Amino acid sequence: MFAEACGHARRVAVLASVEAVLGWDEQTMLPRAAAGHRADQAAALAAIVHRLRTDAAQGERLHGLAAGPLATGGSPEQQATIRLLRRDFEKQARLPPRLVEELARTGVGAQQAWVAARAGSSWKMLEPWLDRMFALKREQADCQRPDLDRYDSLMDDYEPGARWRDVVGRFEPLRAAIVPLVQACRESSTQPDDRILTSATYPIDAQRPFVRDVAVRIGFDFDRGRLDTTAHPFCTTLGPDDCRITTRWNERSLPTALYGVLHEAGHGLYEQGLRRDWYGLPPGETASLGIHESQSRLWENMVGRSTSFWEWCLPLARAAFPAALGDADVATVHEALMVVRPSFIRVEADEVTYNLHVMMRFDLERAVVQGDLAVADLPAAWNDRFEKDFGMRPPDDAHGVLQDIHWSAGLVGYFPTYTLGNIYAAQLMAAARRRFSGLDDDFAAGRFQALLAWLREEVHAAGRMLESDPLVERATGSPVQADWLVQSLWERYGAAYGL
Ligand code: ZN
Repeated sequence: MFAEACGHARRVAVLASVEAVLGWDEQTMLPRAAAGHRADQAAALAAIVHRLRTDAAQGERLHGLAAGPLATGGSPEQQATIRLLRRDFEKQARLPPRLVEELARTGVGAQQAWVAARAGSSWKMLEPWLDRMFALKREQADCQRPDLDRYDSLMDDYEPGARWRDVVGRFEPLRAAIVPLVQACRESSTQPDDRILTSATYPIDAQRPFVRDVAVRIGFDFDRGRLDTTAHPFCTTLGPDDCRITTRWNERSLPTALYGVLHEAGHGLYEQGLRRDWYGLPPGETASLGIHESQSRLWENMVGRSTSFWEWCLPLARAAFPAALGDADVATVHEALMVVRPSFIRVEADEVTYNLHVMMRFDLERAVVQGDLAVADLPAAWNDRFEKDFGMRPPDDAHGVLQDIHWSAGLVGYFPTYTLGNIYAAQLMAAARRRFSGLDDDFAAGRFQALLAWLREEVHAAGRMLESDPLVERATGSPVQADWLVQSLWERYGAAYGL
């Protein structure tokens, strides 16, 4: 019975990976006029996947397994598979098929409306779509986990086990440490100079092989993945040997593609590190979006912004961009990477202010879901909060409430996973540094295998058998806390700004 239940779950995973193919194509290739038909395809496939996910025979198998000997006496993989497949099944079975289809269809329509609304900075174009989407998400929350608070029910899709009150408990001290850090950076008489990376010319034809080499060096396997171009970079997995990462290119800014690719390749390393023998089943799946983000942030920020990384990378960069970096030294390049500059757009934010963007979205979307804020009042609430945290007011909604795709895509409860990922990343990196004293010597020599092997063992191999908190606690030896991130940000940016 266990083998049959796993076989069914794998078939669902294969079909869901077809959904991922459609999603990847939608983000990278889809002609504008094809959106209507793509919405039909997405809705049709979502309906089939949902029917399979809620198949009554599978429900009976899982029910039987949960009461059988393997549920408590099987291997850890078998026990986790039974427990989690059953939990997933029950959650899905509580969703009416009409709601699932409606969410898929509204998601595609709302995203198309969002593209147009953002281009014209027209909130009115998006508002009815978001109103509809939030109503559907509330319905989803009530159906799928009636035992939980609505926001916790939605967050459970991305960060299983997380509860908003605990997240607030982690975010509040972080915000209390970051707001004064940003202010201290702004007022400091020492201001890092980033012109070397942002005002020279970095030909895109030279950027492509350069960033690819960096991705290969940290361990991304291009036989099992691709790098393509998009407006909004992402990583998606179409199968156990098919991990797609994307980036955008900017001739005037090397960090755009370099750090974009380090980030997405960090996600890719996690996907490529999953156990193939458990594909489509909990031991071969990722733990949560927060853990996913911890892997990308670790490579992007903790590794990629270290001076030791640049000791290895700079000669490579000099060879690729002789006109821009011909006589640059590590200190100059590193200084350029340490600029803290409040900006309106989250995806362009520096490492320090980024978390303020996320925490604000977490508070706003929670207020909408819990009924404390009307969708119609989102733009004003956004601008007021932004002014409070950043000391400036968005000039229009394109630089404010319209900038992110998440809400129109139905990704509500997703935002907090970004900052949770930063918190986990800092804690994991501190543990890795305790474990390997020569990590910086490794980086300076272009060796990243020890770090990757440790992540494979401590994080990737666990699949989703552990939830985020116990996973991080097991790897690092201490409960999850924001202190590591606060310490890391204050140390690194404090040094750059002479604080
Ligand atoms: Zn990411």
